[in-house]
Amino acid sequence: MLQIYNSLTRIKEPFKPLHEGHVGMYVCGPTVYGDAHLGHARPAITFDLLFRYLTYLGYKVRYVRNITDVGHLEHDADEGEDKIAKKARLEQLEPMEVVQYYTNRYHRDMEALNVLPPSIEPHASGHIIEQIAFVQQILDHGYAYVSNGSVYMDVEKFAKDYPYGKLSGRNLQDIVAETRELDGQDEKKHSYDFALWKKAAPEHIMHWPSPWSEGFPGWHMECSAMGMKYLGERFDIHGGGMDLMFPHHEAEIAQSCAALGHDTVHYWMHNNMITIAGKKMGKSYNNFITLEQFFKGDHPLLTKPFGPMVIRFFILQAHYRSTVDFSSEALEAAEKGLQRMQEAYARLQKLQPKGEGLEAKEAVSGLRARCQEAMDDDLSSQLVISELFESARLINTIWDGKATISEADLKELREVWKTFAIDILGLRLEGEAGGNEEKTAAYRGAVDLLLQMRLEAKQAKDWATSDRIRNQLTALGFQIKDQKDGFEWTL
Ligand code: ZN
Repeated sequence: MLQIYNSLTRIKEPFKPLHEGHVGMYVCGPTVYGDAHLGHARPAITFDLLFRYLTYLGYKVRYVRNITDVGHLEHDADEGEDKIAKKARLEQLEPMEVVQYYTNRYHRDMEALNVLPPSIEPHASGHIIEQIAFVQQILDHGYAYVSNGSVYMDVEKFAKDYPYGKLSGRNLQDIVAETRELDGQDEKKHSYDFALWKKAAPEHIMHWPSPWSEGFPGWHMECSAMGMKYLGERFDIHGGGMDLMFPHHEAEIAQSCAALGHDTVHYWMHNNMITIAGKKMGKSYNNFITLEQFFKGDHPLLTKPFGPMVIRFFILQAHYRSTVDFSSEALEAAEKGLQRMQEAYARLQKLQPKGEGLEAKEAVSGLRARCQEAMDDDLSSQLVISELFESARLINTIWDGKATISEADLKELREVWKTFAIDILGLRLEGEAGGNEEKTAAYRGAVDLLLQMRLEAKQAKDWATSDRIRNQLTALGFQIKDQKDGFEWTL
């Protein structure tokens, strides 16, 4: 049975959905004012893994991942200029041009990482009415106040009736000590009160009418409003990066309790962060590496380009709740690991069954159960990978003729790899040229055909043709190994 670590209770809990056979999950998506970087890849891949595994287990999953296109301000998310409006001002674009541009690029990067699209991808700017209604409910319940056209959460009042800080383990004193004094503060009763609605300054270009002012919603509001709209007043899973636990998710819990009188989310899940050479990623460290820079090798911290599957494999090699430290060396190691998997996978497709295959029998029996057990243990993808490495060794032994495998075991082994490596871990193992399975199959077929023609040329002692095919394919980056009765190639 699937056990997941609930950040709220701080223990692994058996996963029981609220409605049998169905799972509602919400994950905080990107604020689309710049290209996605490694810090975006980790939550996207973590919750893609969860989405894929829940689907494999037979659940009908409604996966909502939002696009933040308004209300995410520069300082502590609550003060300063709107990140998208600022980009639009600097680039002299419409804010929605910025949003569309970076949303398209985010989708392109996610496709490259083989991250499945969510079931619903709502935009904050498309749900202003729902957010206004949500703010009104909080006001009606007395947990918010209007000040100079803005609406703030009355945290002190809320904390008297509900536990505030239970997710992040903070109390109000800690929060006071952490909160910076910023402009607009005089509008608030307390520094820890957060904006539910902000009155727009005259130069602010993104604003909507509301009962309180011409303005825009506070950043935390969108997830509460859109989560409720698409998943209901109570739903199963809410995910995001650990950096969102406070203030964002803590604020979401407070908003929902204040509006509805109860918690919305059953399981809170958070992926840990990626550090770069031991340091947090951040603009001030100048160590933001975008995914595109990884794919092109275009950053001083990178020794070479790394394909999207290497990034995905690198992330899945660690458990999602452990920290991952990025370095070019670590990625090179991940690349070697992925290549070993790709080679084993290619050989697995070509293996021929023979006899009883007693050596293989033991290794294959229980492999599926062990992989599933690993996934059931709070998505231990790193253990699934080590099981697959173990079976890659077996595949290579059979390939080298040092062991045999029966027909039934070969079928099972192929199915386990298809299920866990391809469907659940979401690895594309047919080489980085993949992405589109049909294209990949066509390309493999074309290379096989050329090498078959070379074989025939050799048999006809047409050395010129045989050498020409070999040399040209080698120049294109193919490695060709001649075998006793055929050939093997890799890119
Ligand atoms: Zn959110």
